Amino acid sequence: MINFLNLKKINSQYRDEIIESITRVIDSGWYILGNEVSQFEKEFAKYCDRKYCVGVANGLDALVLVLKAWKEMGRLKEGDEVILPANTFIASVLAVSESGLVPVFVEPSADSYNLDVNKIEKSITSKTKAILPVHLYGQLAEMYQIREIADRYSLLVLEDSAQAHGASSSQVKAGAFGDAAGFSFYPGKNLGALGDGGAIVTNDDELYEVLCSLRNYGSKTKYVNEYIGVNSRLDEIQASILRIKLNYIESDIERRREIATIYRTQINNPRVKINTLSLSQGEESHVWHLFVVESEDREKFIKFLADNGVQAAIHYPIPPHKQKAYSKYNELSFPITEKIHDSIVSLPMDPTLTLSEIEHIISVVNKY
Ligand SMILES: *Cc1c(COP(=O)(O)O)cnc(C)c1O
Repeated sequence: MINFLNLKKINSQYRDEIIESITRVIDSGWYILGNEVSQFEKEFAKYCDRKYCVGVANGLDALVLVLKAWKEMGRLKEGDEVILPANTFIASVLAVSESGLVPVFVEPSADSYNLDVNKIEKSITSKTKAILPVHLYGQLAEMYQIREIADRYSLLVLEDSAQAHGASSSQVKAGAFGDAAGFSFYPGKNLGALGDGGAIVTNDDELYEVLCSLRNYGSKTKYVNEYIGVNSRLDEIQASILRIKLNYIESDIERRREIATIYRTQINNPRVKINTLSLSQGEESHVWHLFVVESEDREKFIKFLADNGVQAAIHYPIPPHKQKAYSKYNELSFPITEKIHDSIVSLPMDPTLTLSEIEHIISVVNKY
């Protein structure tokens, strides 16, 4: 079976370096908010071309803490509306509701799966205070247009960059378009730790100060609490591993792009739709966290793949507004989102896939 994602193979490439770095942390005797985290924060901020990075416990917390910090700073208040795509991983929506804000779903473009910029303005009300674009599947949302709309209506922009480390347009990287951005280092993400991890990047001095405090019980000086904070810290071991993997992310992205190009040029089955994925913002704008196709009879397609040794996945089977957790939104209708969620299938996308594995996947897809 060709795995959808072979994390063991991915991480064993760096096994010796990882063991060395964990040993260094063990021997340092310092395990929380030490040198590894502050070095990683510097390195990841530089990678994203931002002034600051704040390491936190996971990607969901990265988004939540920014929204909570903006409340502390008086830029948002309870009940404000946040515009976000209707087709996203649940964490984008959880971040908004957990922060006491109201998610307002907007349909994506059927071609890019990202927020349809032509539909944003219709959803703006007097309560709208922020836009939360998601760079879904690793492709940059149309950030220049989103930024322009946000500026015209004085809205904050928080990029959900959990799937898009390193994606760029005109040399500007994911995370450098918004007022702030949240990243995830969940093991399966393009920059993955060996456990949970996340980070925020921003150029905003005040936001940076508030976030450093919020992630650490709301305290800058030990035992002196300015905010009702949380415990959400990236730990030293994960930071030390991320520092290693950051050195390889560019070559990983290159490999993902090569695999995507082979898929896009060689899959030619009319029953398997490869989205035009217009790439209108250029090849650099996509880091192929996932390679998503569409099939009308999805269950049969996935079973055929599995019967022929290819493990596929679905990202994601149920849209947030149809989840039981969000029953108050169940009656809303987002036809484009619903159609996407009913037909998408993710093919294996893993920088360690071999050429013969890729050829096998393509031949099975084309035989279906
Ligand atoms: C993974 C992910 C998150 C949440 O990250 P965690 O580290 O798992 O909390 C948020 N948004 C998107 C789009 C994601 O893919």
